[in-house]
Amino acid sequence: MTCIQNALVIGGGFSGMSAAIECAKQGIAVDLVEIDAQWRADGAGISVSAPTLRALQTVGVLDAVIQQGYCGEGVKLFTASGMALGVMPTPCIAGPGVPSGAGIMRPVLAGILAQATRAAGVNVRLACSFEQILPQSDGVQVRLTDGSTGRYDLVIAADGLYSKVRKTFFPDAPAPRYTGQSIWRAVVPRPADITTVQMWLGDGHVKVGVNPVSQDEMYVFVTEERAVNERIAPELQPQMLRDLLAPFSAPQVQAMRAHIGPQSRVVFRPLESMLMPRPWNSLRVVLVGDAVHATTPHLASGAGIGIEDGIVLAQELGRAASLDAALAAFEERRFERCRAVVESSGQLGEIEATGGDKALHAQIMRATMAKLAEPI
Ligand SMILES: Cc1cc2nc3c(=O)[nH]c(=O)nc-3n(C[C@H](O)[C@H](O)[C@H](O)COP(=O)(O)OP(=O)(O)OC[C@H]3O[C@@H](n4cnc5c(N)ncnc54)[C@H](O)[C@@H]3O)c2cc1C
Repeated sequence: MTCIQNALVIGGGFSGMSAAIECAKQGIAVDLVEIDAQWRADGAGISVSAPTLRALQTVGVLDAVIQQGYCGEGVKLFTASGMALGVMPTPCIAGPGVPSGAGIMRPVLAGILAQATRAAGVNVRLACSFEQILPQSDGVQVRLTDGSTGRYDLVIAADGLYSKVRKTFFPDAPAPRYTGQSIWRAVVPRPADITTVQMWLGDGHVKVGVNPVSQDEMYVFVTEERAVNERIAPELQPQMLRDLLAPFSAPQVQAMRAHIGPQSRVVFRPLESMLMPRPWNSLRVVLVGDAVHATTPHLASGAGIGIEDGIVLAQELGRAASLDAALAAFEERRFERCRAVVESSGQLGEIEATGGDKALHAQIMRATMAKLAEPI
């Protein structure tokens, strides 16, 4: 018996969909509103770490992710010229048959979760958001942008880094902070000899990596120190990405560089982060995912911890005696884990941007990955 009967999820990203699916499994009636009429995810690839695969298994979509993505083991490290530095292991943590790492295109993962959301019986409304959220003693009265109104026991806000719900209910929350690093991503053909994540570490402040996302394709990511958070015209981006790859003489990097041209769809993004101090809930409104803990991608774990939020929140709603107790238990289980990801990722970015201590970089990475392997 759950401590609530119904919930409204605001935002249909990875976190919102996972929360909706898991709450529906508990028998909670869930409405989900998503502002984007097409329910799109951006066209880049995403790295799926072992803890994220474990979470996707819990949500029930692991087989589809394995089939439609590409699974690999370990992270291979090279110098800019292609000399092998070693392999960072990525241990399996979720039992037999669950890989230790994967890559997948974001729209593919979003499509898999969207299908699971509808299959779980969630009432999805696209091109829809909230106009007003009025907490009352026994529920929350919500007016939506499609003109309808509803009464909910709980509002789960999963509306991302620039969360409007956060601005409304937590006006003193810290604003997203630009970290001084930007990332470039593009999809290129996968050669047969690239079968897992590979990274080439430059002497300067640039790191190049790839992760296969299917049998045929892989995504390239390049992090770069960039003092100013600026917009770059899309038509300039392919050549700028080629320029960043030019000093990396490793043959595999040059081969992928040759595939990037004016026709390429390059996704450039300044890296921002934000961790909201507790509490993460107020007046029957709780924040999950990037809305409350947005990380830079250095540990490839942002989507994973958002998906875990949905799992843990639903578990606590399913077993606590009251909503207050469930929300307190949710935060207790989530805060330190999410803080570790946001803060360690920030440290890793800083070391990369300043050309800092590579041994410390590896140590932070190992320690945080070990923490993330612990049960949620
Ligand atoms: C460059 C980059 C690379 C990354 N790479 C990785 C990676 O490799 N692996 C990994 O695990 N993580 C990665 N992350 C992190 C990951 O992308 C995020 O943590 C994850 O997408 C957060 O999901 P979310 O659902 O919380 O938020 P979002 O993905 O932002 O989803 C929010 C959703 O809410 C909707 N919405 C917004 N406002 C409203 C509103 N008012 N009403 C209704 N709907 C609304 C949006 O349209 C969207 O669908 C990366 C992040 C960045 C920036």
